[in-house]
Amino acid sequence: MKRCISFLCAGFLMILSGCGAPSVGDVGAVRTLFAMDTMMQLTVYGEHQEEAVDAAQAEISRLEGLLSRTRSDSQITALNRHAGDGSPVAVDPDVYSVLSLAQEYAREVDGAFDITVAPIMDAWGFVSKNYRVPSQEELARLLPLVDGEQLRLEEGGSTVQLAKPGMAVDLGAIAKGYTAGRVEALLRSYGVEDALIVLGGNVTAMGRNYSGDPWRVAVRDPLDGEAYLGILPLQDVTASTSGGYERYFEQDGRRYYHIIDPTTGLTADSGLLSVTVISSDAARNDALSTALFVMGTERAEAFWRAHGDFEMVLVQADKTVLITQGLEEGWDFRGERNGYQYEILHR
Ligand code: AMP
Ligand code: MG
Repeated sequence: MKRCISFLCAGFLMILSGCGAPSVGDVGAVRTLFAMDTMMQLTVYGEHQEEAVDAAQAEISRLEGLLSRTRSDSQITALNRHAGDGSPVAVDPDVYSVLSLAQEYAREVDGAFDITVAPIMDAWGFVSKNYRVPSQEELARLLPLVDGEQLRLEEGGSTVQLAKPGMAVDLGAIAKGYTAGRVEALLRSYGVEDALIVLGGNVTAMGRNYSGDPWRVAVRDPLDGEAYLGILPLQDVTASTSGGYERYFEQDGRRYYHIIDPTTGLTADSGLLSVTVISSDAARNDALSTALFVMGTERAEAFWRAHGDFEMVLVQADKTVLITQGLEEGWDFRGERNGYQYEILHR
């Protein structure tokens, strides 16, 4: 069987498909764009594929304009600017939804996920890209500002506010998953059933690919951007990857990832190199991949056992790849060349 890599995305997953991948006017509408600080690609099939892909791109821009915290005119920037001043900020229903979902997921994972981690992200220089290791004193001073429960969501769903001055929200761990869910719904409203929505490390596979098979999504080797650990056949689910070979800096021989443990203010150091989560809820999926990366294998495994609604791939620093039993069928392992082995986690 002849196969080639048709698209290498800047996120953590790359997509494999047969040679002669679909192109506009051929068997699908393909759109590549840069938004939310990452490469995105939409592949859409259907009678109205061109209008659908245009509408999807416009929706991504609209949500980016609302949810970005680096744009001076976004609603998240307004929320952060008014932190602690007592004036509630009126927000779009989508902004309200992302914030309330984020709060719900934070409770679910017991603090491993918290969108109010922004002041800590800034202290590490992850936004400015002037990377540094903050002192213990600095972190101790900032940690009281990390508290998702201090994000007040007004009854009725139209205004929000941060309780303390200096608090700030960063939606980097959930915005792409939320957007993928919105794009999926939008595409369905155009009659689209088959599409691949790649938003950096979040990949939503709708229906089937152009040859009528489930989409094939590869999990990258977190230590080697050119290699992959295995391929998963996916249909009507989202795969979100956190960690990996991108978005970290190195100092004194240590690697610091852009994911923070909100309870310590330190970068996550749980013995995991990457976490991929697969489920049918794109926004929660994105939040979970970030949270499980913070939690580490033991807590992630316990969380998976307690929740029947997602599957995961944990890549450990010791080069063991743990995959949950729901992914076993169709899992095509390719990691042996780089010294990985895999184990199945059974319920
Ligand atoms: P992801 O790639 O989805 O794992 O998201 C990582 C991004 O989420 C980071 O670049 C930060 O903007 C933000 N972030 C980092 N740590 C956390 C955390 N523990 N909870 C929520 N957001 C986080
Ligand atoms: Mg995430």
